Amino acid sequence: MLSNVRIVLVGTSHPGNIGSAARAMKTMGLSQLVLAEPRVEPDGQSVALAAGATDVLKHLVVTEDLASAVADCALVIGTSARSRTLSWPMLDAREAGTKLAQEGRQGPVALVFGRENHGLTNEELQMCHYHVCIPANPEYSSLNLAQAVQLLSYETRMAHLAMAEAPAEAQEPYPNQGQLEGFYQHLERTLSHTGFIIQAHPGQVMTKLRRLFNRARPEATELAILRGVLTSVDKASGQHGKKPTE
Ligand code: SAH
Repeated sequence: MLSNVRIVLVGTSHPGNIGSAARAMKTMGLSQLVLAEPRVEPDGQSVALAAGATDVLKHLVVTEDLASAVADCALVIGTSARSRTLSWPMLDAREAGTKLAQEGRQGPVALVFGRENHGLTNEELQMCHYHVCIPANPEYSSLNLAQAVQLLSYETRMAHLAMAEAPAEAQEPYPNQGQLEGFYQHLERTLSHTGFIIQAHPGQVMTKLRRLFNRARPEATELAILRGVLTSVDKASGQHGKKPTE
């Protein structure tokens, strides 16, 4: 179950943090490390700071961006040192640990960390179902990247240990991030064709719709119905089967 919990570091720029994150993960029983568009490669400093967690480093996966790092995940939780202008469903660290441990029983789930200097972009934060902010000292709220990894991995482990005995509850599967992204793109295309979204002035419509569907967390079968709804609109407006650019 914990083997389904993926730690994704986005745009990391200090090799030492990669090693320290690997160590933090291994102490808590996590092993899946993904570097999304890293600015550096793991080096000797990473190995030194990994202190015996070199197997985590050895098996790490590098992706070109966050979207490809989480495409197969049914739950994506993003971390942020401050609450942004973007209001998004929030979890505290404990709730995040519980969700990761619970949903990690079904398949891959991800916990996403940002760049040392400026965290995650709004676009990246919008790929997440929930955000977690560790309620640190408001005057000094930014933890070291690997220490944030440690704390949230600890919460995930605690939740996992607490539920290890309990039988898993049957839950309808959620779509993965790649399927959700496919739905958002279809929605945007259809709404552009019907003229609801004006390409030159798209405004905040898609951000708000993403937030709405994200909050509702449609299950895979519900998402299939929504795709069907869009296809029926496309057919009625003569757009069905046309390529996005047509
Ligand atoms: N200056 C950046 C902070 C980056 S710290 C900013 O303002 O966003 C690097 C990463 O560590 C963050 O992107 C986040 O993933 C994690 N992190 C640091 N402090 C955190 C906190 N208080 N809560 C949640 N995550 C935190």
